[in-house]
Amino acid sequence: MKNNNHKVIPQDEFFNLWAGSGEQDDALTNELVLADEVPTDPIRCPKCNGTTISVEGYYRLAFTIEQADGSVPKENLDDEGIKVVEVLTCPSCQIRWYVVDEATFRLYEENHELRVQVAILESLLHAPVRIMGESN
Ligand SMILES: [Zn+2]
Repeated sequence: MKNNNHKVIPQDEFFNLWAGSGEQDDALTNELVLADEVPTDPIRCPKCNGTTISVEGYYRLAFTIEQADGSVPKENLDDEGIKVVEVLTCPSCQIRWYVVDEATFRLYEENHELRVQVAILESLLHAPVRIMGESN
């Protein structure tokens, strides 16, 4: 781990974590970043602070539905949505940032740690068996 706030995502783990998220540009490094660590107003690259970046995301609209005894429900839709930023791409740094919350970040770290442990166990299982006292 480079530091507390950013994490490089190995390509093989990237596909497991973000399966179905779309096309993949191999020239870019993928990194996770906590949403709190992304500079805003305007949104900037977490590494170089550059403002020439592409921002991808979606709007989340809240609504309430009031229904009484099966009547035709009255639906209230919020005028203003909440802008949710998912991906930042910085052409200068060649980094695609995946903006995640604290819980997702910690889950990724735990997942990564488990993968490392599995790899170690697999290498032990497939290691040649050495008999005590036997020389090469
Ligand atoms: Zn940058």
